[in-house]
Amino acid sequence: MTGGRTVRAARGTTLSAKSWQTEAPLRMLMNNLDPEVAERPEDLVVYGGTGKAARNWASYDAIVRSLEDLEEDETLLVQSGKPVGVFRTSTWAPRVLLANSNLVGDWATWPEFRRLEAEGLMMYGQMTAGSWIYIGTQGILQGTYETFAAIARKRFGGTLAGTLTVTGGCGGMGGAQPLAVTLNGGAVLIIDVDESRLRRRMSKRYLDVVETDLDAAVERVLAARAAGEALSVGLVGNSAEVLPLLLERDVTVDIVTDQTSAHDPLAYLPAGVAFADWRAEAERDPEAFTVRSRESMARHVEAMVGFQDAGAEVFDYGNSIRDEARQGGYDRAFAFPGFVPAYIRPLFAEGLGPFRWVALSGDPKDIEVTDQAILDLFPENEGLKRWIAAAQEHVEYEGLPARICWLGYGERAKAGVRFNELVAEGKISAPIVIGRDHLDSGSVASPYRETEAMADGSDAIADWPILNALLNASSGATWVSLHHGGGVGIGRSIHAGQVSVADGTPLAAEKLERLLTNDPGMGVIRHVDAGYERAVEVAAERGVRIPMREW
Ligand code: NAD
Repeated sequence: MTGGRTVRAARGTTLSAKSWQTEAPLRMLMNNLDPEVAERPEDLVVYGGTGKAARNWASYDAIVRSLEDLEEDETLLVQSGKPVGVFRTSTWAPRVLLANSNLVGDWATWPEFRRLEAEGLMMYGQMTAGSWIYIGTQGILQGTYETFAAIARKRFGGTLAGTLTVTGGCGGMGGAQPLAVTLNGGAVLIIDVDESRLRRRMSKRYLDVVETDLDAAVERVLAARAAGEALSVGLVGNSAEVLPLLLERDVTVDIVTDQTSAHDPLAYLPAGVAFADWRAEAERDPEAFTVRSRESMARHVEAMVGFQDAGAEVFDYGNSIRDEARQGGYDRAFAFPGFVPAYIRPLFAEGLGPFRWVALSGDPKDIEVTDQAILDLFPENEGLKRWIAAAQEHVEYEGLPARICWLGYGERAKAGVRFNELVAEGKISAPIVIGRDHLDSGSVASPYRETEAMADGSDAIADWPILNALLNASSGATWVSLHHGGGVGIGRSIHAGQVSVADGTPLAAEKLERLLTNDPGMGVIRHVDAGYERAVEVAAERGVRIPMREW
């Protein structure tokens, strides 16, 4: 319920807007707020702590009206979730341009952001919340699955069978962790302070069991570990308390990570604060709450380092918890690496990243047709085959049917053009929306996550995501967004998103070919520039033009 309303995207082929190019952002905005998709739709919060789809309900209504009216050569501007202008542009220009949560360097702090948010001047857009391409927990599932598969290859002979992973945070994104571990054969204990989040993941088959008792939960996962069984157990508890206890009791743990909303100290529950008092306490005195929260994260991360000292594979899963723990007074917070330098960078160097698409018809059969198209296009890719089979068996759609798979430079354009043909041929019943996470190879500057430990030290240079947004707006995207603070919090990242629509027209085919070539091309040139050898090979093999390089 959203102020008395339940938002859900329309299905089928009847348009409320004037064309599919504007119907698509309209349905995707609504889909982000579908109660099946959003974590707190009544507050317009989609995922990732306080990541919102629109600034307030009046802004939401005005965006909907604007999109319903928008012509095919007009562009709507959205500033931190509020529609602020409509201009005549061209059919090649994006229909919507969005800028979310951007602040000038010295002002880019949580307190300043919150002051502006309280004045009604801004909202936190996270990554795909404020850019209307969040697709539920599935959106992160393949990336999480591949991360655990990489760990299995690196440390455990290719499978997680017989291992125990301990993690925290079973929210919108973190909720992918239990299924990602069990798909790799392992046992996992996932801790969350909010029982309803654990139960929600269980209802969608991302989680097997919920326990409220620590001993019972530990007994179950240790039995599964010993038997080499895949099992996920959710424990209602606070990671800052449970992790030190597990360490004290010498529970053997093989892998430790965390996906609580640590990037925002008000969205992390400190030890000693009752769950029921969380919101009120955070609102009463945000600064004091931040101090308590960081102190708890210091204890939480200290226990993670303790497990690393005991031999476990430990990594930061992109929520900035190391820096928060450092600010909470723990001096070994950066003893373990972030997941990008540890496992993902080689993929980024090839322009590989989380390509995703959504069936605007609402018909799951359309996704089946696209799944088959992907298998036909890339028959040699065994990982992709394994993933599509696993997704078909285990993933329940949340909101409009959607799929994600990691594709690289050259591959994404092929897939997009093929989907457009299938729409044109009537084999798919309505247009397909094609987008991606902002967590991608050439779309983000985030020194504690995507660009941590770049080979040339260029971690904090944010020219790249800005160029990425400009390039995508020039290449035929239907909507383009430029955000600040996604994933890791205000002051710590700048990132861009793009979404396009395969509506079956020749114009869409042309746009998709350019956009889906150029966007991952940014990832390749970004990594060439930073000195990654694999990126240089990919650029040379696939003909990416780089002025100061000769192939
Ligand atoms: P969310 O807000 O939906 O979920 C966070 C969960 O953490 C909630 O269920 C909350 O109850 C729980 N929590 C808070 N404090 C806790 C504590 N002390 N102990 C145990 N549980 C606690 O957020 P999300 O969308 O799941 O994202 C989680 C984090 O992961 C964010 O910081 C986000 O930026 C980051 N993230 C990482 C990736 C990635 O690829 N690695 C992708 C997206 C998001």
